[in-house]
Amino acid sequence: MKKQFNVNQSLSKKIIEAIRISLNFPKKKVYLHEPKFIGNELSYLKECIDTTFVSSIGEFVNRFEKNLKNYTGSKFVVAVVNGTAALHIAMKLVGVCRGDEVLLPALNFIASANAVSYCNAIPHFVDSEEKTLGIDSKKLEKYLDKITEQKNGLCINRKTLRIIRACVPTHIFGHPIDLNGLIKVTNKFNIELIEDAAESLGSFYNKTHTGTFGKIGILSFNGNKILTTGGGGAILTNDKIIADRAKHLTTTAKKNHEWELFYEEVGYNYRMPNINAALGCAQLEKIPELLKIKRKLFKSYKKSLNQLSLNNDVKILQEPKGCSSNYWLQTLLLTKSSMDQRNDILYKTNQAGFNTRPAYSLNHKLSHFKNYPKMDLTVAESLEGKIINLPSNETI
Ligand SMILES: *Cc1c(COP(=O)(O)O)cnc(C)c1O
Repeated sequence: MKKQFNVNQSLSKKIIEAIRISLNFPKKKVYLHEPKFIGNELSYLKECIDTTFVSSIGEFVNRFEKNLKNYTGSKFVVAVVNGTAALHIAMKLVGVCRGDEVLLPALNFIASANAVSYCNAIPHFVDSEEKTLGIDSKKLEKYLDKITEQKNGLCINRKTLRIIRACVPTHIFGHPIDLNGLIKVTNKFNIELIEDAAESLGSFYNKTHTGTFGKIGILSFNGNKILTTGGGGAILTNDKIIADRAKHLTTTAKKNHEWELFYEEVGYNYRMPNINAALGCAQLEKIPELLKIKRKLFKSYKKSLNQLSLNNDVKILQEPKGCSSNYWLQTLLLTKSSMDQRNDILYKTNQAGFNTRPAYSLNHKLSHFKNYPKMDLTVAESLEGKIINLPSNETI
């Protein structure tokens, strides 16, 4: 049954109709994202309880790490309590120290700016590009050309005289950023690259998994991510020394000994419990299905936006060329003509039972981060007004 729309109908109404069609007319409220348990979750959890191995040691942790290695192609994987802890350790392991600067996108989840702060270092906010929502590497190169100089193989911010130690791009909503471009920039300026792949498990750049390009990559398995361990994260690296350090630091820096309790430095209790890893093992077995569902939903949104002739008002974000995105969160971009209706669309879609959401609050505007260095952030600021995340659950 097709409905005819009259031209005066508000954009919000049409978008609600497009969502309804895409999700095949759901009867209940549809959340932005919900975990999906369609595999061996219960049987693995039961195994933990039956064997009493629910906590800091157990075979599921080793198995989850091994399965993640196979899936991502990362040589080493260390499972940890959450993605933020993974970022914290990653910063430490590339040498981020007190007073260093770390380049982060302003349009970002808050975890990486927090992790920089845990190291008493300073976030330095950079701009994004519309195509991928990730760091604009060309703009960054020009900026660094202008504000930095090289001294003893280090990148120095000439204005603050601090070392710019690392750059932490995020593959936002699962879409791979321009990795080739950014790697050129971080190499040119001697800046360490850490990839925040928390949202991009299952996303590939030139057929290589995101999170395996930088010196370190991190994943998150929080309940809102493409797969979940309840809470959890992982550190990915191809460097054995870094992997061994990551394992050591995240397991209280305890000396490897059968019965002795000796600690070699200040360590962290960041290891992933076995019961969480059990959930992860079951979830990872189903990642092909989880990815299929996301891609199908993207196609469904694209089709109904087309059908309702909404292409001048909104576009749905598509995976960048040469990439395969996990389509973790479906993303609408409003155009210049429709930007002023963002709040109306957010309000009315939520009222209609479709849990939509705006972009992250730009990090440099938060009171605790507002006095830190930043470049011109025109694109990030305009994106903030354009992004609407759509319900990204399967209902079709
Ligand atoms: C979820 C997320 C993290 C870390 O999340 P945790 O909740 O600590 O596991 C980090 N970065 C991004 C971009 C995220 O979306």
